[in-house]
Amino acid sequence: ARPAEPPRAGGTIETADGVAIRLSAIINDPLEFGSIDPSLFAGIGLMRTEFLMTSPTDAFNEERHYEIYRQALRWAGDAPVIVRMLDLGGDKTLPDLGARKSESFMGLRGIRLLLARPELARLQARALLRATAHGRLGVLLPMVTVPDELDAMSTIFEEELAVLVRRGVQTRMPEIGMMVEVPAAALMLDRFSRSAFFSFGTNDLAQYLAAAARDDRSVAELYDAAAPAICRLIAGGVALADAMKRPVGICGEMASEPRHIPALLAAGLRNFSVAPNRLADIRSAIGGLYSDGLPRRRRAE
Ligand code: PEP
Ligand code: MG
Repeated sequence: ARPAEPPRAGGTIETADGVAIRLSAIINDPLEFGSIDPSLFAGIGLMRTEFLMTSPTDAFNEERHYEIYRQALRWAGDAPVIVRMLDLGGDKTLPDLGARKSESFMGLRGIRLLLARPELARLQARALLRATAHGRLGVLLPMVTVPDELDAMSTIFEEELAVLVRRGVQTRMPEIGMMVEVPAAALMLDRFSRSAFFSFGTNDLAQYLAAAARDDRSVAELYDAAAPAICRLIAGGVALADAMKRPVGICGEMASEPRHIPALLAAGLRNFSVAPNRLADIRSAIGGLYSDGLPRRRRAE
């Protein structure tokens, strides 16, 4: 008989008091699949899709979207894969898309742009819906500010699902969750009852909380100084998500920096999406802490 599958070597790490912390991967480019061992992770916590958009032709190529989502699900096996819908605008502009492009972090970006260009949102929704046949797919919406945006995108998914079902395509409704990266949303998670899960995006939260752009070096110190405010905001959000019984995690870069791990644990986070090359450092940081963020006590000498 063939030996049983070895258990996943990674994917969780226990704190000093035995609380399990899930560690998922952040994937920016499908080329990474070849060099990252999936057994080290509890799946993909954030798959950015802006890399698909090297040209408008790619952007509007449903098959290209679909194939890449399939590839991600194949890589992850039976673990969940959370794909984020296009977060264009702000720092991720695309020339010549024909979209009303916004250079502003405060303008038409993320879900705002998708809802302004519904044909693009519908194409991506169809590719995602088709990919559900190949694994545990979740969909993450970027830059959600008010519940209406979440509701509008959910309606797009329902309509596209109905079309695919009528055509006999194998599909189902994926869980749809939201990035928490706009302060107005972070304070009001209880209003987003349609969100299946929440993921804190601290890269953007920091810039909106400190009024210090993430790409402006001259205010980098202020951007970094937002960390305590972010953690206080996260603690409040985690309490709301827990009361709603919705999973909540973090996918911003703070979770890939060991110095922030104590405060993020203290804020109540238990699901971390990390840059794959920081995994070892984050595992050892968490292993050295109690679940309230305090350091593992030295043995009495
Ligand atoms: C974030 O804002 O923290 C995030 C993960 O998204 P991005 O960096 O792609 O804006
Ligand atoms: Mg963001």
